[in-house]
Amino acid sequence: MTKKVAMITGASSGIGQATALELAKRGFRVMLAARREDRLKQLRSEIIDNGGEASYRVTDVTSFDEMEALAKETIEQFGQIDILVNNAGVMPLSFLSKRKVDEWDRMVDVNIKGVLYGIGAVLPYMEEQKSGHIVNISSIAGHGVVPGSSVYSGTKFAVRAITEGLRQEMKAGQNIRTTIICPGAVGTELTHTITDKDILRNFQERYKDVQTLQGEDIAKAIAYAIEQPDHVDVNEIIVRPTTQF
Ligand code: NDP
Repeated sequence: MTKKVAMITGASSGIGQATALELAKRGFRVMLAARREDRLKQLRSEIIDNGGEASYRVTDVTSFDEMEALAKETIEQFGQIDILVNNAGVMPLSFLSKRKVDEWDRMVDVNIKGVLYGIGAVLPYMEEQKSGHIVNISSIAGHGVVPGSSVYSGTKFAVRAITEGLRQEMKAGQNIRTTIICPGAVGTELTHTITDKDILRNFQERYKDVQTLQGEDIAKAIAYAIEQPDHVDVNEIIVRPTTQF
């Protein structure tokens, strides 16, 4: 049987990197995308050294042209796109009164537009193949809001709405599945995007006694969803650390 192909955004660190390693280990061919080429190169080598198949393309998800080029290159290299993991994201939390307009824009561009551009880039191929699976990474912040998370939560609520809309629009016979993944706290570089010192301090205080998840924990949830038989569509998974409120 031909090995399935997974295109993963935000593969240069955290959940995306762990997902690439996990899926490659399970026999998927992986196309890695992010902006930091050194990280992608290193990850590709690690996967190949372990007997897997991987390629990468430097991609900024906020550019639809770059996302289309990524999908095209995936087809050229591997002949198909079975899975898209729309994972790239940023989380510069702050209070609205701080008016960090650049950070609002960045969250909307990466977390919402990036997801839409990913869907737009792969759908024509999946429709032609009459099969595909789009996995969008939302968050528990896509289920609730806390002070400072208004914009980030807004983007993650949007990811859930977009994914549910996509699910409903896919007609019977197209065989295109959708999954929303909502992680709780995962120990990654995501908090590096927080520039507001008070928020960062509050955030660290809130999670100080929580044993955070690792990227691998979320990668396994993604693998569970995409390894189901074709007639099973796992629509949403929430994964929290056991000690998170
Ligand atoms: P990381 O910061 O470790 O990873 C974020 C990834 O997004 C990086 O690979 C980064 O790559 C990529 N990225 C950011 N901006 C762009 C861009 N413009 N174009 C392409 N890639 C971009 O964080 P996580 O692994 O934690 O985050 C992954 C996803 O999980 C995000 O959507 C996040 O919101 C979500 N999430 C994370 C949680 C957590 O607690 N960590 C909880 C819930 C959800 P590069 O900089 O090289 O481009």
